[in-house]
Amino acid sequence: MGQVVVISTGGTIASRWQGSGYAADAGGGDVLATAAVPAGVTVRVVDLMSVNSARLTTRDQLALLRTVHEVLADPAVDGIVVTHGTDTLEESAFLLDLHHDDPRPVVLTGAQRPLEAPDGDGPRNLHDALLAASSAALRGHGVLVAFDGQVHAARGTIKVQTLAADAFADPSGSPVADVKDGHVLVRRQPERPQPLPLPAAGTPLPRVDIVTHHCDADPLLLNAAVDAGARGVVLVATGAGNATPEVVAAVEAAVARGVLVALTTRVPAGPVAEIYTHGGAVDLAAAGAVLTGTLRAGQARIAVLAAALAHPTGDTGDGNRALRRALGTPATS
Ligand code: ASP
Repeated sequence: MGQVVVISTGGTIASRWQGSGYAADAGGGDVLATAAVPAGVTVRVVDLMSVNSARLTTRDQLALLRTVHEVLADPAVDGIVVTHGTDTLEESAFLLDLHHDDPRPVVLTGAQRPLEAPDGDGPRNLHDALLAASSAALRGHGVLVAFDGQVHAARGTIKVQTLAADAFADPSGSPVADVKDGHVLVRRQPERPQPLPLPAAGTPLPRVDIVTHHCDADPLLLNAAVDAGARGVVLVATGAGNATPEVVAAVEAAVARGVLVALTTRVPAGPVAEIYTHGGAVDLAAAGAVLTGTLRAGQARIAVLAAALAHPTGDTGDGNRALRRALGTPATS
Protein backbone atom coordinates (compact mmCIF):
# COMPACT_ATOMS: atom_id res chain seq x y z
CA MET A 1 0.00 0.00 0.00
CA GLY A 2 1.30 3.44 -0.78
CA GLN A 3 0.95 6.64 -2.70
CA VAL A 4 3.76 7.24 -5.16
CA VAL A 5 4.31 10.32 -7.30
CA VAL A 6 6.04 9.73 -10.65
CA ILE A 7 7.98 12.76 -11.86
CA SER A 8 8.54 12.35 -15.57
CA THR A 9 11.58 14.00 -17.21
CA GLY A 10 12.03 12.08 -20.48
CA GLY A 11 14.88 9.77 -21.51
CA THR A 12 14.76 6.61 -23.58
CA ILE A 13 11.89 5.34 -21.43
CA ALA A 14 9.86 8.22 -22.96
CA SER A 15 11.47 8.14 -26.43
CA ARG A 16 9.85 7.40 -29.78
CA TRP A 17 11.14 7.17 -33.34
CA GLN A 18 11.43 10.64 -34.89
CA GLY A 19 12.16 9.54 -38.48
CA SER A 20 15.93 9.66 -38.17
CA GLY A 21 16.53 8.48 -34.61
CA TYR A 22 14.89 8.29 -31.20
CA ALA A 23 14.13 11.22 -28.92
CA ALA A 24 12.06 11.81 -25.81
CA ASP A 25 8.61 13.17 -26.53
CA ALA A 26 6.20 11.20 -24.36
CA GLY A 27 4.65 12.42 -21.14
CA GLY A 28 4.58 10.54 -17.86
CA GLY A 29 1.06 9.19 -18.45
CA ASP A 30 2.18 7.32 -21.59
CA VAL A 31 5.25 5.98 -19.80
CA LEU A 32 3.22 4.83 -16.79
CA ALA A 33 0.69 3.10 -19.07
CA THR A 34 3.40 0.62 -20.13
CA ALA A 35 4.07 -0.66 -16.60
CA ALA A 36 2.19 -2.88 -14.18
CA VAL A 37 1.47 -0.88 -11.03
CA PRO A 38 2.21 -3.00 -7.92
CA ALA A 39 -0.89 -4.04 -5.95
CA GLY A 40 -1.93 -1.47 -3.36
CA VAL A 41 0.07 1.36 -4.93
CA THR A 42 -1.68 4.46 -6.22
CA VAL A 43 0.19 6.73 -8.61
CA ARG A 44 0.01 10.41 -9.51
CA VAL A 45 2.08 11.74 -12.41
CA VAL A 46 3.90 15.08 -12.53
CA ASP A 47 5.08 15.98 -16.05
CA LEU A 48 8.17 18.06 -15.45
CA MET A 49 9.81 17.86 -18.90
CA SER A 50 10.42 15.39 -21.70
CA VAL A 51 14.03 15.58 -22.85
CA ASN A 52 16.94 13.22 -23.37
CA SER A 53 19.23 13.59 -20.45
CA ALA A 54 22.40 14.63 -22.30
CA ARG A 55 20.54 17.95 -22.83
CA LEU A 56 19.79 18.61 -19.15
CA THR A 57 21.09 21.80 -17.58
CA THR A 58 21.75 22.80 -13.98
CA ARG A 59 18.54 24.83 -14.18
CA ASP A 60 16.60 21.66 -15.13
CA GLN A 61 18.24 19.67 -12.33
CA LEU A 62 17.41 22.33 -9.76
CA ALA A 63 13.80 22.35 -11.04
CA LEU A 64 13.74 18.59 -10.41
CA LEU A 65 15.23 19.06 -6.94
CA ARG A 66 12.60 21.65 -6.01
CA THR A 67 9.79 19.51 -7.43
CA VAL A 68 10.90 16.55 -5.30
CA HIS A 69 10.86 18.73 -2.19
CA GLU A 70 7.44 20.20 -3.09
CA VAL A 71 5.99 16.72 -3.60
CA LEU A 72 7.44 15.50 -0.28
CA ALA A 73 5.78 18.43 1.50
CA ASP A 74 2.59 16.33 1.23
CA PRO A 75 2.65 13.83 4.12
CA ALA A 76 0.25 11.54 2.22
CA VAL A 77 3.01 10.74 -0.30
CA ASP A 78 4.98 7.57 0.53
CA GLY A 79 7.68 7.87 -2.09
CA ILE A 80 8.72 9.30 -5.44
CA VAL A 81 9.80 7.75 -8.74
CA VAL A 82 11.72 9.92 -11.20
CA THR A 83 11.78 8.63 -14.78
CA HIS A 84 14.97 9.97 -16.35
CA GLY A 85 17.36 9.43 -19.24
CA THR A 86 20.11 7.03 -18.33
CA ASP A 87 22.95 9.11 -19.82
CA THR A 88 23.12 11.58 -16.92
CA LEU A 89 20.84 9.84 -14.43
CA GLU A 90 23.76 9.43 -12.00
CA GLU A 91 24.24 13.21 -11.89
CA SER A 92 20.62 14.11 -11.11
CA ALA A 93 20.32 11.21 -8.66
CA PHE A 94 23.37 12.39 -6.73
CA LEU A 95 22.21 16.02 -6.65
CA LEU A 96 18.88 14.85 -5.20
CA ASP A 97 20.68 12.61 -2.71
CA LEU A 98 22.96 15.40 -1.49
CA HIS A 99 19.87 17.42 -0.52
CA HIS A 100 17.59 14.57 0.56
CA ASP A 101 16.58 15.05 4.18
CA ASP A 102 13.53 12.80 4.31
CA PRO A 103 13.17 9.07 5.07
CA ARG A 104 10.85 8.50 2.12
CA PRO A 105 12.50 6.86 -0.90
CA VAL A 106 13.15 8.78 -4.10
CA VAL A 107 13.88 6.24 -6.82
CA LEU A 108 15.22 7.08 -10.27
CA THR A 109 14.72 4.74 -13.18
CA GLY A 110 14.75 4.70 -16.97
CA ALA A 111 15.31 2.30 -19.82
CA GLN A 112 17.87 1.22 -22.35
CA ARG A 113 15.20 0.46 -24.96
CA PRO A 114 12.62 3.00 -26.16
CA LEU A 115 9.01 3.43 -25.08
CA GLU A 116 7.33 1.26 -27.67
CA ALA A 117 10.01 -1.44 -28.02
CA PRO A 118 8.23 -4.85 -27.90
CA ASP A 119 10.94 -6.27 -25.61
CA GLY A 120 11.61 -3.02 -23.76
CA ASP A 121 13.08 -2.88 -20.27
CA GLY A 122 11.18 0.27 -19.26
CA PRO A 123 8.00 -1.45 -18.00
CA ARG A 124 9.88 -3.75 -15.64
CA ASN A 125 12.19 -1.00 -14.41
CA LEU A 126 9.25 1.30 -13.73
CA HIS A 127 7.35 -1.44 -11.91
CA ASP A 128 10.40 -2.15 -9.74
CA ALA A 129 10.92 1.55 -9.04
CA LEU A 130 7.27 1.89 -7.94
CA LEU A 131 7.74 -1.09 -5.66
CA ALA A 132 10.95 0.38 -4.21
CA ALA A 133 9.42 3.84 -3.73
CA SER A 134 6.50 2.38 -1.79
CA SER A 135 8.64 -0.04 0.21
CA ALA A 136 8.82 0.58 3.96
CA ALA A 137 12.08 -1.43 4.00
CA LEU A 138 13.79 1.22 1.87
CA ARG A 139 12.82 4.19 4.05
CA GLY A 140 15.92 6.00 5.27
CA HIS A 141 18.08 4.68 2.40
CA GLY A 142 18.31 8.02 0.57
CA VAL A 143 17.95 8.46 -3.17
CA LEU A 144 18.08 5.21 -5.12
CA VAL A 145 18.39 3.92 -8.68
CA ALA A 146 16.19 0.95 -9.66
CA PHE A 147 17.37 -0.83 -12.80
CA ASP A 148 17.40 -4.37 -14.16
CA GLY A 149 16.23 -6.03 -10.95
CA GLN A 150 18.58 -4.17 -8.63
CA VAL A 151 18.36 -1.09 -6.44
CA HIS A 152 21.53 1.03 -6.09
CA ALA A 153 22.44 3.93 -3.81
CA ALA A 154 22.63 7.18 -5.80
CA ARG A 155 26.08 7.96 -4.38
CA GLY A 156 28.75 6.10 -6.33
CA THR A 157 26.42 4.57 -8.91
CA ILE A 158 27.28 5.23 -12.55
CA LYS A 159 26.14 4.10 -15.97
CA VAL A 160 28.37 1.13 -16.82
CA GLN A 161 26.79 -0.14 -20.04
CA THR A 162 25.96 1.88 -23.14
CA LEU A 163 23.32 -0.55 -24.45
CA ALA A 164 22.88 -3.59 -22.19
CA ALA A 165 19.95 -3.77 -19.75
CA ASP A 166 22.17 -3.92 -16.64
CA ALA A 167 23.10 -0.31 -17.18
CA PHE A 168 23.97 0.78 -13.62
CA ALA A 169 26.38 -0.27 -10.89
CA ASP A 170 28.68 1.15 -8.27
CA PRO A 171 32.04 -0.24 -9.46
CA SER A 172 33.46 0.35 -5.96
CA GLY A 173 30.46 -0.97 -4.02
CA SER A 174 27.42 -3.24 -4.14
CA PRO A 175 23.67 -2.87 -4.68
CA VAL A 176 21.40 -1.80 -1.81
CA ALA A 177 18.62 -4.24 -2.69
CA ASP A 178 17.33 -6.73 -5.23
CA VAL A 179 13.82 -6.86 -6.64
CA LYS A 180 12.62 -10.44 -7.10
CA ASP A 181 9.14 -11.82 -7.70
CA GLY A 182 7.49 -8.58 -6.65
CA HIS A 183 9.53 -8.22 -3.44
CA VAL A 184 12.30 -5.85 -2.40
CA LEU A 185 15.13 -7.71 -0.65
CA VAL A 186 17.34 -5.22 1.17
CA ARG A 187 21.06 -6.05 1.31
CA ARG A 188 22.62 -3.02 2.97
CA GLN A 189 22.11 0.52 4.26
CA PRO A 190 24.13 3.08 2.28
CA GLU A 191 26.31 5.55 4.18
CA ARG A 192 25.23 9.13 3.61
CA PRO A 193 26.68 12.35 5.04
CA GLN A 194 24.41 15.04 6.52
CA PRO A 195 22.17 16.41 3.75
CA LEU A 196 22.88 19.91 2.43
CA PRO A 197 20.22 22.61 2.61
CA LEU A 198 18.44 23.52 -0.65
CA PRO A 199 20.23 26.27 -2.59
CA ALA A 200 18.51 29.64 -2.11
CA ALA A 201 16.14 30.59 -4.92
CA GLY A 202 17.84 32.86 -7.43
CA THR A 203 21.37 31.69 -6.57
CA PRO A 204 23.58 32.37 -9.61
CA LEU A 205 24.35 29.15 -11.48
CA PRO A 206 28.08 28.43 -11.41
CA ARG A 207 30.09 27.03 -14.29
CA VAL A 208 31.78 23.73 -13.32
CA ASP A 209 33.96 22.00 -15.92
CA ILE A 210 35.54 18.55 -16.23
CA VAL A 211 39.07 18.13 -17.62
CA THR A 212 40.64 14.73 -18.30
CA HIS A 213 44.34 13.99 -17.99
CA HIS A 214 46.09 11.71 -20.49
CA CYS A 215 49.55 11.10 -21.95
CA ASP A 216 50.94 14.30 -23.46
CA ALA A 217 48.24 16.45 -21.81
CA ASP A 218 49.15 20.00 -20.85
CA PRO A 219 47.18 22.40 -18.61
CA LEU A 220 45.61 24.26 -21.57
CA LEU A 221 42.06 23.00 -21.05
CA LEU A 222 42.20 23.43 -17.27
CA ASN A 223 43.40 27.01 -17.72
CA ALA A 224 40.74 27.61 -20.37
CA ALA A 225 38.05 26.52 -17.90
CA VAL A 226 39.39 28.94 -15.30
CA ASP A 227 39.59 31.74 -17.88
CA ALA A 228 35.99 30.96 -18.91
CA GLY A 229 34.94 31.80 -15.34
CA ALA A 230 34.60 28.30 -13.90
CA ARG A 231 33.82 28.32 -10.19
CA GLY A 232 34.92 24.71 -10.06
CA VAL A 233 36.91 22.20 -12.09
CA VAL A 234 36.97 18.42 -11.80
CA LEU A 235 40.33 16.95 -12.79
CA VAL A 236 39.91 13.40 -14.04
CA ALA A 237 43.42 12.18 -13.40
CA THR A 238 45.11 8.88 -14.23
CA GLY A 239 45.50 5.96 -11.81
CA ALA A 240 44.90 6.79 -8.17
CA GLY A 241 44.78 10.52 -9.02
CA ASN A 242 47.99 11.49 -10.82
CA ALA A 243 48.96 14.08 -13.43
CA THR A 244 52.11 16.18 -14.06
CA PRO A 245 54.01 18.96 -12.28
CA GLU A 246 52.64 21.37 -14.92
CA VAL A 247 49.07 20.40 -14.06
CA VAL A 248 49.88 20.75 -10.35
CA ALA A 249 51.07 24.32 -11.01
CA ALA A 250 47.86 25.07 -12.92
CA VAL A 251 45.76 23.64 -10.06
CA GLU A 252 47.64 25.82 -7.57
CA ALA A 253 47.00 28.91 -9.71
CA ALA A 254 43.32 28.02 -10.12
CA VAL A 255 42.85 27.52 -6.38
CA ALA A 256 44.59 30.87 -5.76
CA ARG A 257 41.93 32.44 -8.00
CA GLY A 258 39.15 30.95 -5.85
CA VAL A 259 38.35 27.95 -8.06
CA LEU A 260 37.25 24.72 -6.35
CA VAL A 261 39.27 21.84 -7.78
CA ALA A 262 38.14 18.25 -7.24
CA LEU A 263 40.29 15.23 -8.07
CA THR A 264 38.92 11.97 -9.47
CA THR A 265 40.25 9.30 -11.82
CA ARG A 266 39.72 7.69 -15.24
CA VAL A 267 39.93 4.23 -13.60
CA PRO A 268 36.45 2.65 -13.19
CA ALA A 269 36.77 1.44 -9.57
CA GLY A 270 38.57 2.29 -6.32
CA PRO A 271 39.39 5.52 -4.49
CA VAL A 272 41.85 8.25 -5.42
CA ALA A 273 44.73 8.32 -2.94
CA GLU A 274 47.77 10.39 -2.05
CA ILE A 275 50.60 8.04 -3.05
CA TYR A 276 52.73 9.69 -5.75
CA THR A 277 54.62 12.96 -5.94
CA HIS A 278 56.22 14.66 -9.03
CA GLY A 279 52.74 15.54 -10.30
CA GLY A 280 50.78 12.89 -8.41
CA ALA A 281 47.89 13.13 -5.97
CA VAL A 282 50.26 14.09 -3.13
CA ASP A 283 51.15 17.29 -4.99
CA LEU A 284 47.66 17.91 -6.37
CA ALA A 285 46.23 17.74 -2.84
CA ALA A 286 48.97 20.06 -1.56
CA ALA A 287 48.06 22.46 -4.38
CA GLY A 288 44.48 22.56 -3.05
CA ALA A 289 42.67 19.87 -5.03
CA VAL A 290 40.08 17.96 -2.98
CA LEU A 291 40.13 14.16 -3.39
CA THR A 292 36.68 12.75 -4.16
CA GLY A 293 37.01 9.20 -2.80
CA THR A 294 35.27 6.76 -5.13
CA LEU A 295 33.10 9.32 -6.93
CA ARG A 296 33.56 9.43 -10.68
CA ALA A 297 33.62 12.55 -12.83
CA GLY A 298 29.89 13.29 -13.22
CA GLN A 299 29.14 12.94 -9.51
CA ALA A 300 32.36 14.72 -8.47
CA ARG A 301 31.15 17.60 -10.62
CA ILE A 302 27.76 17.54 -8.88
CA ALA A 303 29.51 17.70 -5.48
CA VAL A 304 31.47 20.76 -6.65
CA LEU A 305 28.30 22.28 -8.09
CA ALA A 306 26.42 21.79 -4.80
CA ALA A 307 29.33 23.32 -2.86
CA ALA A 308 29.45 26.32 -5.20
CA LEU A 309 25.67 26.78 -4.93
CA ALA A 310 25.94 26.67 -1.14
CA HIS A 311 28.56 29.45 -1.19
CA PRO A 312 27.91 31.46 -4.34
CA THR A 313 30.03 34.40 -3.24
CA GLY A 314 31.95 32.86 -0.33
CA ASP A 315 35.69 32.35 -0.26
CA THR A 316 37.39 29.15 -1.39
CA GLY A 317 37.63 27.99 2.23
CA ASP A 318 33.82 27.98 2.60
CA GLY A 319 33.45 26.28 -0.76
CA ASN A 320 36.03 23.66 0.16
CA ARG A 321 34.31 22.94 3.47
CA ALA A 322 30.96 22.54 1.65
CA LEU A 323 32.64 20.28 -0.91
CA ARG A 324 34.15 18.10 1.83
CA ARG A 325 30.75 17.95 3.52
CA ALA A 326 29.15 16.80 0.25
CA LEU A 327 31.90 14.21 -0.12
CA GLY A 328 31.52 13.08 3.48
CA THR A 329 35.25 13.60 4.14
CA PRO A 330 36.56 15.36 7.27
CA ALA A 331 37.57 19.01 6.88
CA THR A 332 41.21 18.26 7.66
CA SER A 333 41.84 15.36 5.28
N1 ASP B 1 20.22 6.71 -23.68
C1 ASP B 1 19.52 7.59 -22.84
C2 ASP B 1 18.45 6.90 -22.02
O1 ASP B 1 18.61 5.73 -21.77
C3 ASP B 1 19.03 8.79 -23.43
C4 ASP B 1 18.90 9.78 -22.34
O2 ASP B 1 19.70 9.77 -21.43
O3 ASP B 1 17.94 10.53 -22.37
O4 ASP B 1 17.50 7.43 -21.58
